[in-house]
Amino acid sequence: SRCSTGGNFSKGELQPYGNIELSPSSGVLNYGQGLFEGLKAYRKENGSILLFRPEENASRMVQGAERMCMPSPTVEQFVEAVKLTVLANKRWVPPVGKGALYIRPLLMGSGAVLGLAPAPEYTFLIYVSPVGNYFKEGLAPINLVVENDFHRATPGGTGGVKTIGNYASVLKAQSRAKAKGYSDVLYLDSTHKKYLEEVSSCNVFLVKGKTISTPAIKGTILPGITRKSIIDVARSQGFEVEERLISVEELLDAEEVFCTGTAVVVSPVGSITYLGKRISYGGESGVGVVAQQLYSSLTNLQMGLTEDKLGWTVELN
Ligand code: PMP
Repeated sequence: SRCSTGGNFSKGELQPYGNIELSPSSGVLNYGQGLFEGLKAYRKENGSILLFRPEENASRMVQGAERMCMPSPTVEQFVEAVKLTVLANKRWVPPVGKGALYIRPLLMGSGAVLGLAPAPEYTFLIYVSPVGNYFKEGLAPINLVVENDFHRATPGGTGGVKTIGNYASVLKAQSRAKAKGYSDVLYLDSTHKKYLEEVSSCNVFLVKGKTISTPAIKGTILPGITRKSIIDVARSQGFEVEERLISVEELLDAEEVFCTGTAVVVSPVGSITYLGKRISYGGESGVGVVAQQLYSSLTNLQMGLTEDKLGWTVELN
């Protein structure tokens, strides 16, 4: 049914990776009706495979589908499809310490529409690819630039969901930043042009003593699963974590800044350039001790090197 949240997806089949057929007038190609997810599977010492909180990705897709006027698979269907796809591609999960299998679920309006309307049919698919470790030789700091001309999201828009169009809208700012030698862009809110939002594909955190702050979720930033996990891990290690409005001026007195996301896990920020001024973090190496500590805690958990007391990992044999 149109603009429904109910899942009416039948069990799919495994196919070799290849091109798919799509109507030229499909909703996704014409009106951007598409959502995706990203998660990783790690190989454990005993040979089995670990997924990290896949039901979180599933429920984020369900919520995103509601915003995008799309039906979606249920949380159970999503998780089951991820497990089946990973097991069928077991040989592509890299050995311990050599990276992960990146999993990309995709939901799209595949049915044909001419006038603007939700597509009449939807396709859910998953593809996978082995990826190396983001940081090959220990953590390396990234260098960000605060974006003043472009915004990633507006209140009432789609910034809070993982829809494909959000990524098209950041390409220009990202390329411009990369051409100037920065790793990525830090976005400000579009109303006041003053509060920190996030980076193109990760969330941002500021550290000052034992207090860690991160922009609150209010519809314009993606509710990252790494963000949510790091908040819990940091609290369990005695940090005070605040989710609130953070003015760009606060970058000046932060001791450390780091980003979180599935790809980067926890990534220390070595510098942020704001209005032409470069602010440095994390001392000589650019790798702050808090970022280092949280990176180790989270990756040890994701790779099955420490006991999973919270039940965040799903083991596949
Ligand atoms: N923000 C954006 C815009 C992203 O694309 C991502 C990556 N999914 C994140 C934050 C981090 O989210 P997660 O920790 O769930 O990967």
